[in-house]
Amino acid sequence: MLDRNAPPYLSAALWRGLKGRCPSCGDGKLLHSYLSVTPHCPSCGEPYGHLRADDMPPWLTVFVVAHLVIPPMLYLEQLYQPNVWAQAIGWSVLSLALTLALLPRAKGAVLALMWSLKSEGTERG
Ligand SMILES: [Zn+2]
Repeated sequence: MLDRNAPPYLSAALWRGLKGRCPSCGDGKLLHSYLSVTPHCPSCGEPYGHLRADDMPPWLTVFVVAHLVIPPMLYLEQLYQPNVWAQAIGWSVLSLALTLALLPRAKGAVLALMWSLKSEGTERG
């Protein structure tokens, strides 16, 4: 029998966080602007204002963007040696776009992970 009040699995909570949705219900928005955490879920009322993701979302974003951009950049350089200015502009724009797209998703996933682990979200013990 499915318990409707049971917390979601970690994978479901992470997926909801990646989509910017409340890890608990999946309906309400987790971020009310680009990176600001909503104090409470507008749908289920779950509190999120106390969670502080700190530096984890930017570190995660840099890790992912670097692994997405650097291999094709090196591969393209090996094959065609394109113009340096074209590469500098192109790879910079791609890196910036990926960073801006992935940063709120990384923050949502980190907040969902903290929520799932019942992390207090503060540095106090
Ligand atoms: Zn909710």
